[in-house]
Amino acid sequence: MLARRGQRVKIIDKGLPARESSWAGSGILAPLPPWRFNEEVNAIASRGMQLYEEFNETIEGISGLSTEYRRCGMAVLQADTQKGVEWCQKNQQFGEARDLHEFSPHLTGGSCVWMRDVASIRNPRVGSAAIRAAELLGVEIVPHTPALSVLTANNRVTGISTPQGILEADQYVIAAGAWSTKLLGPELTGNMDVWPLRGQILLFRTRPDVLPIVVLTEDQFYLVPRQDGLILAGTTREAVGFDKSTTEAARTAIHHRAGDILPLLHRLEPEVHWAGLRPASPDYLPTIGRHPELENLWANAGHRAYGLTEAPSSAELLGQLMYGETPKLNPAPHAWRTQNPDRPIL
Ligand SMILES: Cc1cc2nc3c(=O)[nH]c(=O)nc-3n(C[C@H](O)[C@H](O)[C@H](O)COP(=O)(O)OP(=O)(O)OC[C@H]3O[C@@H](n4cnc5c(N)ncnc54)[C@H](O)[C@@H]3O)c2cc1C
Repeated sequence: MLARRGQRVKIIDKGLPARESSWAGSGILAPLPPWRFNEEVNAIASRGMQLYEEFNETIEGISGLSTEYRRCGMAVLQADTQKGVEWCQKNQQFGEARDLHEFSPHLTGGSCVWMRDVASIRNPRVGSAAIRAAELLGVEIVPHTPALSVLTANNRVTGISTPQGILEADQYVIAAGAWSTKLLGPELTGNMDVWPLRGQILLFRTRPDVLPIVVLTEDQFYLVPRQDGLILAGTTREAVGFDKSTTEAARTAIHHRAGDILPLLHRLEPEVHWAGLRPASPDYLPTIGRHPELENLWANAGHRAYGLTEAPSSAELLGQLMYGETPKLNPAPHAWRTQNPDRPIL
């Protein structure tokens, strides 16, 4: 986004870019489900959903790589379908009451809200396409270069210290996912409250016709199909620090729940089991904006469970703020402040 506006951009990453939470997620482009969340969460998520098609065409067009973006739709299993249908009507989104069994003979039944226009992407592919597109736009990507600390003087950032030396720029953006406040340290963190929340996923190999849609349960368990018949099942929400290991207990629980929705999964062994660390924030609202005291320090962090969905809207908001333009989204819920405002916690 900044490179397309003619800026010289350098991204440093402690490992390989787009290999942490953005790689590990399941790629549903919607809140799960939207009627669980308040207006502020839905505002940034809906704007992300609106911008996604264009964002996707841009990165696919420049990189020549497919992200597997598709509007496969999402069925939200719940007894009270009226609540979801009404929310969709009020918010100009397609939503109707259906039975899950109608979408595939392999699925068990159950009343659900069918959200036809929900899309999904394939995380590793969108990461590769975005990185390649950025490189082709002139962004310099420097892997295996951890930012160790943010150096400041006279209300400005003067550099980022790395094992390879100090890096200097006019403007600095902290977008280090779950590690963002760890990198900033207590002095610079302000109201930004981001911590790692582990999520584990199982991957099954089936045929492409077995599951054509995303299925979500009322307690946020889901199955997500890929075009080639792979199915992701998950996930967990575990506050275990920066620990990305997988557990036998989660494997058993996820396998069991997955088979309850799609019984043939009971008979299959998962091919892969992985974990990623969401950048959790107390109210699902990422911090996007300028530091309250340092004029050239910016943040784009704390997207919790919806960072893929909110990627284009977050980038748009950050760009508009950096350029002093009137933002499309209300920036107040995302503002970086010196202290925590009194925000509701979901
Ligand atoms: C299991 C799971 C399922 C999910 N499902 C969905 C979903 O269906 N839909 C959705 O929208 N979202 C989903 N998410 C959430 C989404 O993946 C995240 O919100 C999003 O990826 C966050 O992006 P990010 O760039 O902030 O963080 P990351 O993708 O984690 O990137 C942070 C980057 O910062 C780098 N870094 C960290 N510290 C430093 C440092 N000191 N110096 C240099 N580099 C550093 C890391 O190496 C990493 O590359 C899911 C997440 C998980 C874990």
